[in-house]
Amino acid sequence: MRLNPRNIKRMMFACVQCGQCLTACDTTQTDQGRTPTLEWKVGLDAVRETMRQRREEQR
Ligand code: SF4
Repeated sequence: MRLNPRNIKRMMFACVQCGQCLTACDTTQTDQGRTPTLEWKVGLDAVRETMRQRREEQR
């Protein structure tokens, strides 16, 4: 996808929440007639998703 959102060295190893991956996913999947697989979660939905992932990691 040739994304370059983390060009500042201290931000290279973490998501900076730029949203470029969502845009790229939407563009490529839509072009292929498919539904985008990435979805942005905010607020309570984001916390719920984080807790779900942590529970799965502990199993
Ligand atoms: S939002 Fe997506 S493209 Fe942007 S830094 Fe996070 S993972 Fe990378």
